[in-house]
Amino acid sequence: MKKHNFNAGPSILPREVIEKTAEAVLDFQGEGLSILEISHRAKYFQPVVDEAVALVKELLNVPEGYSVIFLGGGASLQFCMVAYNLLEKKAAYLNTGVWAKKALKEAKGFGEVVEVASSADKNFNYIPQGWTIPADADYFHITTNNTIYGTEIREDFNSPVPMVADMSSDIFSRPVDVSKYALIYAGAQKNLAPAGVTIVIVRNDVLGKVSRYIPTMLNYQTHIDNGSMFNTPPVLPIYTALLNLRYLKANGGVAAVEKKNIAKADLLYSYLDSSKMFTPTVLDKPSRSRMNICFVMRDEYKDKEADFLKFATEKGMVGIKGHRLVGGFRASCYNALPIESVQALIDCMKEFEKQNA
Ligand SMILES: *Cc1c(COP(=O)(O)O)cnc(C)c1O
Repeated sequence: MKKHNFNAGPSILPREVIEKTAEAVLDFQGEGLSILEISHRAKYFQPVVDEAVALVKELLNVPEGYSVIFLGGGASLQFCMVAYNLLEKKAAYLNTGVWAKKALKEAKGFGEVVEVASSADKNFNYIPQGWTIPADADYFHITTNNTIYGTEIREDFNSPVPMVADMSSDIFSRPVDVSKYALIYAGAQKNLAPAGVTIVIVRNDVLGKVSRYIPTMLNYQTHIDNGSMFNTPPVLPIYTALLNLRYLKANGGVAAVEKKNIAKADLLYSYLDSSKMFTPTVLDKPSRSRMNICFVMRDEYKDKEADFLKFATEKGMVGIKGHRLVGGFRASCYNALPIESVQALIDCMKEFEKQNA
């Protein structure tokens, strides 16, 4: 049976990218060696990093004066590294959910932290509006896509202070004005590559301003100066990231994939908005994520959620159980998910509705 992969992360990658990764595991570029058993210092691997960096810059139109580095430790390590490297006195955070809150909590270990706004009052089902960024903060931190709650910030804000963004679950899903950000980070396993590598795009002039000692491995400058090769980088995930970036470029780049992502999200939300049995959890339309679409069953059908999960699973839907903090269902529709999978999910919901309404 065909599987429709709605996993939230690690999540779907283009089949072609997985096949080429598998080839490199068996024989890397015809060298007669696996990518798993060559030195990262070998002549073969430097071009992989160089090309991946160049493609990130090209696809996101990264301006001069920024560095692109590949790190380990996941996006969660960035919660600490951002504060370690940028927080001297005070930082400002927009609290839009679990990941934002974890980032904020980590920063508290390094200085004063201001929460500029929060959507905790409604279980983070909207993006707060009408807040101001303190002009004396060292930086302002946002989480552009809230993977768990299905909300997304697609506006590149004008911030009076350096702006930092966790784009783990929507990077490369749409064009971004990188010049508005001082630092962007993203764990790769939502939209780019297997788990194990994190991309950081940082404007060079925001570094070197804090007075504390920064441990070597946690200092962005270390990794910039050594071209992501200070220590052994996550070789295989970086290689898959390169393959996926090539794939993205060959398929029209972020503008083309954004069109597809809009089409998928419109299709699913418009069904959910019209359904008598299901309803989206994010009712505020401008706050809706295109990447993670959360929905529940209406109150009168609440007791049917387990039945629907079973029904959908039998029809090949994978990973649609909602996060425990939201309940219900979550369809993650990352770049690699074809619109046919969204249609298959809708057909599945329609059929269930017919049988059970
Ligand atoms: C998944 C996720 C994280 C955590 O990523 P790890 O790589 O597991 O540390 C952080 N932020 C966002 C927005 C995420 O979706």
